[in-house]
Amino acid sequence: MRREGSTKIVATLGPASDTKEHIRALVQAGADVFRFNFSHGEHADHARRLDALREIEDELDRPVGALMDLQGPKLRIGTLAEGPVRLEPGHRFRLDLDPTPGDLERVQLPHREVFDSVERGTELLLDDGKLRLRVEHSGGDYLETSVQVGGVLRDRKGVNVPSAMLQMSPLTPKDRNDLRFGLDQGFDWVALSFVQRPEDVAEARRLVAGRAALMAKIERPTAVDHLDAIIELADGIMIARGDLGVELPPEDVPGLQKRMVRAARAAGKPVVVATQMLESMLTAPAPTRAEASDVATACYDGADALMLSGESAAGAYPIEAVGIMDRIINRVERDPLYRSYVTAYAAEAEHTAEDAITQAAASVARTLNAACIVTYTTSGATALRAARKRPDQPILGLITRLGTARRLSVVWAVRAIVCHDARDLDDMIAKARATAVRAGMASAGQALVVTAGLPFGTPGATNMLRIAYVTERDG
Ligand code: PEP
Repeated sequence: MRREGSTKIVATLGPASDTKEHIRALVQAGADVFRFNFSHGEHADHARRLDALREIEDELDRPVGALMDLQGPKLRIGTLAEGPVRLEPGHRFRLDLDPTPGDLERVQLPHREVFDSVERGTELLLDDGKLRLRVEHSGGDYLETSVQVGGVLRDRKGVNVPSAMLQMSPLTPKDRNDLRFGLDQGFDWVALSFVQRPEDVAEARRLVAGRAALMAKIERPTAVDHLDAIIELADGIMIARGDLGVELPPEDVPGLQKRMVRAARAAGKPVVVATQMLESMLTAPAPTRAEASDVATACYDGADALMLSGESAAGAYPIEAVGIMDRIINRVERDPLYRSYVTAYAAEAEHTAEDAITQAAASVARTLNAACIVTYTTSGATALRAARKRPDQPILGLITRLGTARRLSVVWAVRAIVCHDARDLDDMIAKARATAVRAGMASAGQALVVTAGLPFGTPGATNMLRIAYVTERDG
């Protein structure tokens, strides 16, 4: 069983997708990667779901990616003594470090770094931007603010400070503990929340130490300012439109999304478009037409993957949400206009043997109307390079390491299959033909364009291109 779509689907697990049966149904509906959201749930829940996923992967004989999403330093106010309070525009409201439950006059903000990073005039957004406060005076360990946009404030609501570069690590003690657990469990990707600068990615990279690939979530304006440097240090990015859409005005998000997709494509690193893609399916069996259009737009832009959050984790229609996303992707990718949109941006080839072979493979595959491009890859780098071209044909990645195959599950058009190293050139071509047929990606008479590095098993040494034809015997 193989999804046809080149654009991959990331589904978040949660209470609505908790059992092995649920997870299997999501894979069968089209999910390529599962996101484990460490803002919720206990380690035991995540471990149980990951075990179930690995069993399903064995049953279906298909690598599936597992991504742990760290909570990160989300800012929150403390509690309120007598429940919700209504803040009126023009009133004064104080934020301080005092853990005493708050009231109409004040509440705790237990993050000293905010007090050190703001000044008179800085805007604070509460509860996903529903309430807005303006700093009038910073007293070192308290802030005197005026209410700009009022509303009801409840316990532990989130706080955003869009304009500030906050002096804090992207990894809280909880994140560090979760990360140790996740790396021991064998997660393939780690998503880092609230990245502000390249140094944040470097710090996480040191801790991850190559045991998983690292995805930087772009959700703060400061990260947008350092986008290229962050992409260079990370293995991929997620456009986390939820928090990004709180910190920036809504009209800024679509253009930035397009810019970020291009920047990641230029670097040849996977980019995931996330949040509210099919939000109405939390409670409805079908999406709005505007949501269908949002999913389609991300496909036309050539994003590697699209993500479902609450829709698959906590909604009433998780399987339907994945199924509809898959249907939209398939329809878009068959649209006669699709190729012209997705290739409207062409990542420039670099002056390397790897890129030269990759360019040539895409061109030969198009000329011969080949069934697929087959890349032998140890580290996954050649498959990433091939995907960067956004070729007409799908990419079959033949990989000796299961971990690499799982990491590639988020990458545009790459079908990763684990196989033993080839003994020699003949063996390599025979394996390519047999595997393409077994994976349902080629049939007798069709051409394959095979790339590899000689001598075998040398990462990053792609220097060979061969054309092979599938025969009846390959079945
Ligand atoms: C987002 O903000 O869009 C996002 C994906 O992050 P989270 O859901 O973890 O807040």
